[in-house]
Amino acid sequence: MSSPARFDRGHTDDLMTFLTASPSPYHAVANAAERLEKAGFRQLSETDAWDSGTGGKFVLRGGALIAWYVPEGAAAHTPFRIIGAHTDSPNLRVKPLPDTGSQGWRQIAVEIYGGTLLNTWLDRDLGLAGRLTLRDGTERLVNIDRALLRVPQLAVHLDRSVNSDGLKLDKQRHMQPIWGLGEAHEGDLIAFLEEEEGLEHGSVAGWDLMVHSIEPPAYLGRDRELVAGPRMDNLLSVHAGVAALAAVSGAEKLDHIPVLAAFDHEENGSQSDTGADGPLLGNVLERSVFARGGTYEDRARAFAGTICLSSDTGHAVHPNYGERHDPTHHPRANAGPILKVNVNQRYATDGSGRAVFAAACERAGVPWQTFVSNNSMPCGTTIGPITAARHGIQTVDIGVAILSMHSARELCGADDPYLLANALVAFLEG
Ligand code: ZN
Repeated sequence: MSSPARFDRGHTDDLMTFLTASPSPYHAVANAAERLEKAGFRQLSETDAWDSGTGGKFVLRGGALIAWYVPEGAAAHTPFRIIGAHTDSPNLRVKPLPDTGSQGWRQIAVEIYGGTLLNTWLDRDLGLAGRLTLRDGTERLVNIDRALLRVPQLAVHLDRSVNSDGLKLDKQRHMQPIWGLGEAHEGDLIAFLEEEEGLEHGSVAGWDLMVHSIEPPAYLGRDRELVAGPRMDNLLSVHAGVAALAAVSGAEKLDHIPVLAAFDHEENGSQSDTGADGPLLGNVLERSVFARGGTYEDRARAFAGTICLSSDTGHAVHPNYGERHDPTHHPRANAGPILKVNVNQRYATDGSGRAVFAAACERAGVPWQTFVSNNSMPCGTTIGPITAARHGIQTVDIGVAILSMHSARELCGADDPYLLANALVAFLEG
């Protein structure tokens, strides 16, 4: 039996809005929280006592968000159905003493965050976004969404063999963006941001800033059947997860608690207080059990019955590099979400997880595909195996097939975001 599909191309239009509005993990969770609040969810503070009430709730911590919906009649041992995703994307991030320069150019010192495809950051108009922490302890999001920075590539005349021998980029020497002309003075960048934000000089005490392409997402292709845009790995899944959780909130007769877990720091291994390898998800789920009067036995029963769909992007088959893929597993754009398999547990999927995912797609009327690596290529990984191992929760790795993963501008099918969202709704409905 298939339920009526909830999402269509309008979901993809909305994804493009979400991507543009979310140049950093902090923006992504703020935008997710705003959407959940519109759907009736309310924010809980980790430092307050939590009540046993029903309804939608969420916790924000840095660039992470955990949201859940407690249905009428939920018991302390009611299991969870979790959608996992991550909010961070590979990029360039501002160093503690950012003001530098060379040869009369002002530059910003950056670190490389995650497995960035460095060449894709060259010769793009770049903005700057992130979080400022003020002296009074408050935080504010900042987004300079104009052409502020650029990492200029060396002219071909000065690098004659670049097209034949390949571009070699040194992460330290070659990736520092310029942001104008003149002498660099310590404090320039932060003073500039204070001015842009209308803050008093000296009011910023800390910052987490990163660079983003200011080019908005666009439909691409003869029939506009593709979408080009930044940070689809993995805001595409965060956005679909928010939409799916909001869609099932208020549903009658749920025999489990739907959850969205959107973590930071996946791109460098998930080990942080906001990453999937930290205690955040486990703490929230346990506190939810205990708030409903549960015991440790109830917690164990709830976790044992819980299942997580970990959604992240995967590789669509590349037209120019078909040999890099497994010969028979060729995920295509607009052919539906992918089930990701790796017997060495780089992905947590097993046969029983496959059956859960297949059933959800069938209920949603959504086609799906499988991804497995070519044996001669190292397989990527994601939060799925970490969630499974850390919490003892059955986990299935899924996602959407894209091209140009970890580029400053990735590419996916225009139908796949809403096909994923429809499958996630069916999974959360159970
Ligand atoms: Zn990812």
